[in-house]
Amino acid sequence: MANGRYRRVLLKLSGEVLMGDQSFGIDPDTVARVAAEVKAAKDAGLEICLVIGGGNIFRGMAGAAKGMDRAQADYMGMLATVMNALAMQNALEQLGVQTRVQSAIEMDKVCEPVIRRRAERHLEKGRVVIFAAGVGAPYFTTDSGAALRAAEMKCDALLKGTSVDGVYDADPKKVASAKRYETLSYDRVLSDNLKVMDASAVALCRDNSIPIVVFSIREQGNILKVLDGSGTFTVVQ
Ligand code: UDP
Repeated sequence: MANGRYRRVLLKLSGEVLMGDQSFGIDPDTVARVAAEVKAAKDAGLEICLVIGGGNIFRGMAGAAKGMDRAQADYMGMLATVMNALAMQNALEQLGVQTRVQSAIEMDKVCEPVIRRRAERHLEKGRVVIFAAGVGAPYFTTDSGAALRAAEMKCDALLKGTSVDGVYDADPKKVASAKRYETLSYDRVLSDNLKVMDASAVALCRDNSIPIVVFSIREQGNILKVLDGSGTFTVVQ
């Protein structure tokens, strides 16, 4: 246990986190840096489930905006999340961290299917479980996938690593006086349409009392700081 607050967490990273300074795709150095952070959290005694988005490669909405069938585009997006999961698995294993990828779309040549009891066993054995392909259905996002896996794996918190260090009352990149919330209620996030995660993901966390901790993954060492409470973040609870 890192600080007594959490025993098991689900870490959700958007695909864009893996791009580094690139405008597309996977930057191996960035993946290695994030993997080192995950390892540090694991070494601190935490059980870690990981969900990585696919926005650095393909988003269904973007495809649909260009005339593609939405469901077809969403399946492409889900496949993108599997590529990211494999990249993260590779980086973690190069650091000596044992991992398993479980995909909501079965592809037995590359990874396991999602099997909750098996995932439970992996965590008990000290492996990091990377859940890929979201919920396995179109019209959803990996935020919903993260909330779903956090609920079924009985995680103590959903840590959402983004490019900003919390939730603000205005866009901090545009408004200098924007104020960061320390805490927020799920209902406030939903009623004010605050951009934390998709509404369905926030509602699922609310209904299962899973706190959502929004923090910046761009700063080195931030996962551990979030875990010991010394970092900068917003908690939705
Ligand atoms: N996706 C989906 N169902 C899911 C999860 C993901 O259809 O359960 C598709 C959807 O097209 C989405 C894309 O996969 O845009 C990539 O996921 P997401 O946008 O959540 O990635 P992120 O923004 O976190 O990088």
